[in-house]
Amino acid sequence: MHGAISTPHGPLTLPAYLPDATRGVIRSLDATDLDAVGVRAVMVNVFHLLNRPGVRLIAEQGGIHRFMNWTGPIAADSGGFQVFSLLDGAPKLGSVSNKGFTYRLDPSGKKHLLTPAKCIQAQLRLGADLLFCLDYCAGPDVSPQALRQGVRQTVEWSRACRETFDQILDEQRIPPERRPLLLGVVQGGEDPSLRRECAECLREIGFDGYGFGGWPVTDSGRLTESVGWVVDLTPSDKPRFALGIGKPENLVQAFRLGYDLFDCVMPTRDARHRRLYVFNQSVEQQRPGKGADFYRCIYMEDAKHVRDPEPVDPGCDCLCCRGYSRAYLHHLFRIKDGLAHRLASIHNLRFYQRLIAALATERTAQ
Ligand SMILES: [Zn+2]
Repeated sequence: MHGAISTPHGPLTLPAYLPDATRGVIRSLDATDLDAVGVRAVMVNVFHLLNRPGVRLIAEQGGIHRFMNWTGPIAADSGGFQVFSLLDGAPKLGSVSNKGFTYRLDPSGKKHLLTPAKCIQAQLRLGADLLFCLDYCAGPDVSPQALRQGVRQTVEWSRACRETFDQILDEQRIPPERRPLLLGVVQGGEDPSLRRECAECLREIGFDGYGFGGWPVTDSGRLTESVGWVVDLTPSDKPRFALGIGKPENLVQAFRLGYDLFDCVMPTRDARHRRLYVFNQSVEQQRPGKGADFYRCIYMEDAKHVRDPEPVDPGCDCLCCRGYSRAYLHHLFRIKDGLAHRLASIHNLRFYQRLIAALATERTAQ
């Protein structure tokens, strides 16, 4: 999709990368840091916010925008993937039924129920601009029957989410131009007929955009075939969200397949693990190639940086690269100062924003 999508908190130009503010924060960064880096929208997770501090508390505080001091668009992930991951690792903590997910956060903890209706109610109470339907993400190695069941469940829950969404906004008499967007998530693993079935059912229900659900990357780090199928099976005039994608080279590949929106914890998590991304040649002048050879990672703990006076990336215009040397960042990591995480996260997020800006130019030139 070309251009921008309009949201209750302003237009969002495509393509866009949304950093994961899973618990309502991008660790060690505040809203002014994100704005300075060029971030235009962020992604929170309703599952984590339901558990802590609770959606009611956030609503009482004026909603998620006020709470985080973020004035731009906010997407809220449904939490389906997080509950799946929780139960996949510890099946005794809960179960799945037609109603939704029943789970406990720990064996002696309270029982929670995440239903499609509750999921939408929570996202609306947060005040999110982009909402996701609750989906059922089957694991990468499940039986064909389990994969089929995951698709059926996803379609039924998506229908229920659409109904709850329309009902609440109709009751509140919110005019169409002030409504948030509701996105459906296409499941079906690596089975082309299940992906088709899921996409066709979701299209019939009708959503404002469509997300890729499931496992986007193979063991060898390549994008799975299904990432491309989902683009072909969803309308080209609606935004397509590559959920959880990903590494810089995977983001470039998914963009060229037709995705417009991306979220991934990788740049900020890597920053905290001292892994910083550097373009091999200025991305503003050189189109990223197909592979991963347009950038490299530098590791701040390496002894060669002890006296390294260079910035992380001499071609980068971020706060970290404009003001500080690799030697200083190495020192900050060694003494475990919080500024190390902040500067490294700012740099890696700026890398992603520069990459997205380069891709936007590529699409405009088409
Ligand atoms: Zn930088």
